[in-house]
Amino acid sequence: MPPSVAVIGAGPAGLMAAEVLSLAGVAVHVYDAMPSVGRKFLLAGKGGLNITHAEPFPLFTGRYGERAHTIAPWLNHFGPAELRQWVHGLGIDTFVGSTQRVFPADMKAAPLLRAWLHRLRHPAQGVPVSFHMRHRWLGDLHPTDTGWQMRFATPQGEQVVQAQAVVLALGGGSWPRLGSDGAWVPWLAQQGVVVVPLQPSNCGFDVRVGERLDWSPHLRQHFAGQVLKNVGLSFLVDGAVVFDRVGEMVITETGIEGSLVYAASSHLRDAIARHGSATLHLNLRPDFTPERMRQEVAHPRGSRTLSSHLHSRVGLTKLHTALLHEVLAKDTLNNPALLAQAIGHLPITLHAPRPIAEAISSAGGVGFASLTDALMLHELPGVFCAGEMLDWEAPTGGYLLTACWASGRVAGEGVLGFLQ
Ligand SMILES: Cc1cc2nc3c(=O)[nH]c(=O)nc-3n(C[C@H](O)[C@H](O)[C@H](O)COP(=O)(O)OP(=O)(O)OC[C@H]3O[C@@H](n4cnc5c(N)ncnc54)[C@H](O)[C@@H]3O)c2cc1C
Repeated sequence: MPPSVAVIGAGPAGLMAAEVLSLAGVAVHVYDAMPSVGRKFLLAGKGGLNITHAEPFPLFTGRYGERAHTIAPWLNHFGPAELRQWVHGLGIDTFVGSTQRVFPADMKAAPLLRAWLHRLRHPAQGVPVSFHMRHRWLGDLHPTDTGWQMRFATPQGEQVVQAQAVVLALGGGSWPRLGSDGAWVPWLAQQGVVVVPLQPSNCGFDVRVGERLDWSPHLRQHFAGQVLKNVGLSFLVDGAVVFDRVGEMVITETGIEGSLVYAASSHLRDAIARHGSATLHLNLRPDFTPERMRQEVAHPRGSRTLSSHLHSRVGLTKLHTALLHEVLAKDTLNNPALLAQAIGHLPITLHAPRPIAEAISSAGGVGFASLTDALMLHELPGVFCAGEMLDWEAPTGGYLLTACWASGRVAGEGVLGFLQ
C-alpha cells in the first residue's frame, strides 16, 4: 500500500508540507476545520501580502531573536530568495517595496493561493493532494501497527482516519475565528509535549494613566482611531535601550497599536509580564534636536494658547497636544524647559497587551526541546509540527510567512525521511 500522510491545518505551513510530500509521490490528505483553506493567509493579503524581506540574510535571521539559531537552518534551505522563486513558479511576480519588504505584484493573497491550490490538485509531477474541509481534528492520536489513528468531527459525523505519518500545522492563537484557535495546546501537552503558553505577538496594548486603566474620556472621544505619524518610540530594559525606532502608531479606544507598536511588542509584553506594567517613551518630533526644541518652546508665546504656540513653533498637532495634557502634570506643561524635554521623551505606561484574538500573530507554542531537527515530536514518532504553532515569534515584515513556509518544507522532508 502506498504511504499516506495526514496534514492537519491548511494554512501556509500545512500546504507547503503537503506540496513537498505530493511531489515525492506520497498520498497526502489535508484536513482543515474551516469550510475553505488558508483563511488567515487570505486575511493577511487584505492589507498587502508581505511574503518576505529583501534585507541581507544575517539581518533577516536575526529577526527571529532567541530562535535565530533554530530557524536559520530552515532558511538556509528555503529562505527569502528561494521563496520568491517558488512564488514566481506559481506564475506570480514579486517586487521589493521601498522598505525592502517583498510583495506579490498585485499585493494580494487570493491569486497566489488559487494558483497554488490548482498546482496541488493537478500537479505536473507527483500525486494530487486530497482536501477534506470541515474536518475538525478532535485532538486524539492513537498509535497503530502502521502509524497513527485520529478522529475528526465532520458534517457527516465523526470520522476515523489512519495515516502512516501526520503533520500538525494548526497555527497559533490569533484571530481564532479564522480557524487557528489554539485548542490543540492542552491536547499536545497531555501527550507529554512541551507547549509554551500562547501569547499575543505583534499586538496593541492598553494604557494606564496615573491610577486610571484607560485614556481620559476626552482623548478617547476625540482622538481614538487617529494616527501618529513619524513618531519615535524607545524602550529600555534594565537601563539598556532594547528598542528605538521612528514609525507610525494609532491611538485606540484603550491604548495604542500600529506597526511601530507591533515592532516593539515582544519587549513590551515581556516587561509587563515581569513587572505588571511597562513605560515606553515617545518622541513627538524626532526631527528636532533637544536644543532646537528647547529654544522653540521657550520662545515667548504672548497671548496665544499653549496649543497654538506649540503648533506654530514645533508643528505639534491637536493629537500631540492632547497627549501632552493627558500624561503631563500642570507644572511640567507650564515649564518650557521641562515641556521641551517631555515632547522628545513622553512617558506612556502600558498595563496589558490586547487579547491574543486581536493580535497579528502569537508567541509560544510547541517547544523545540520536544522536536527533532526535522520537526518530529520526540514523544510521538511520525508526528511532525510546522508553522506558527511552534515556539517562535517574529515582527511583521514577511518574517512570519517565510518561517511558516520554510518550516512546512522541513516537516514535509522530515516525513519523507521518516517514511523511508
Ligand atoms: C491581519 C493579519 C495580517 C497578516 N499579515 C501578514 C503579512 O503580511 N506577512 C506575514 O508574513 N504574515 C502575516 N500574517 C501572519 C500569517 O498570516 C500567519 O503567521 C500564518 O498564516 C500562519 O500560518 P500557519 O500555516 O502556521 O497557520 P494558519 O494560517 O493559522 O493555519 C492553521 C490552520 O489550521 C486549522 N486548524 C486549527 N485547528 C484545527 C483542528 N483542530 N482541526 C482542523 N484544522 C485545524 C485552521 O483552520 C487553519 O486553517 C498576518 C496575520 C494577520 C492576522
